[in-house]
Amino acid sequence: MALIEIRDIHKNFGGHTVFNGMSLAVEEHQVVCLIGPSGCGKSTLLRCINGLEPIDGGEIRIHGERMTGPGVDVNALRRDVGIVFQSFNLFPHMTVLDNVTLAPIQVLKVPRAEAEARAMELLKRIGLEQKATSYPDRLSGGQQQRVAIVRALAMDPMIMLLDEITSALDPELVAEVLSMVRDLAREGMTMLLATHEMGFAREVASKVCFLYGGKVHEEGPPEQIFGAPREERTRSFLRQIV
Ligand code: ADP
Ligand code: MG
Repeated sequence: MALIEIRDIHKNFGGHTVFNGMSLAVEEHQVVCLIGPSGCGKSTLLRCINGLEPIDGGEIRIHGERMTGPGVDVNALRRDVGIVFQSFNLFPHMTVLDNVTLAPIQVLKVPRAEAEARAMELLKRIGLEQKATSYPDRLSGGQQQRVAIVRALAMDPMIMLLDEITSALDPELVAEVLSMVRDLAREGMTMLLATHEMGFAREVASKVCFLYGGKVHEEGPPEQIFGAPREERTRSFLRQIV
């Protein structure tokens, strides 16, 4: 059973169709990379999976359970899905430690001491334990983004959704964030990520999906998509960006 199963979803914004029968599966421990031109729906897809955006048709299942429909506890499903966005959205008025412990304490009802111990352990793994009492504006963009990833991990998600998490970073800060994602991949974390970093996608992806025309236009292992794409649209997209 796939951890995430997207079946024939449809999504419109007003008269604009974003998904027109999109289907996609993410298996446990897979790292699936979404690529495609700006506006093809990468962010919308991640937001739909997290229940932040409703769909107009089809279905999304997380570990077999439907995200939509009568009687669905979206909040319970959402707890299993961590999401990190392009622009670091740490709460500016809270310390790093409070940012990381907020959801475990408030949503999972983890006792504060336990949540803080776990947060410190996660921060230590990325070498930021000495920043625990700092406010986000004292951190570099790369450090903030790594804390945002830790904040998502603190909920012990089954899957992480990452939306162009290096796009807003200065070039010299991209590597530290990608390195953290690489470590998560090695540890077996299931991830679905939208990315412009083709070199990185080629390196870490189990599967690459090229979104075009409201669907997954072509999908396959990175060697296929980057080395020998079968579809002309995939080829022309990749030609434009290199
Ligand atoms: P990508 O992340 O691949 O660049 P998006 O998912 O952001 O693409 O957007 C897909 C399409 O949906 C775009 O045409 C965008 O303008 C449109 N769109 C996204 N969010 C909204 C919204 N909240 N309201 C109206 N249109 C939207
Ligand atoms: Mg986007």
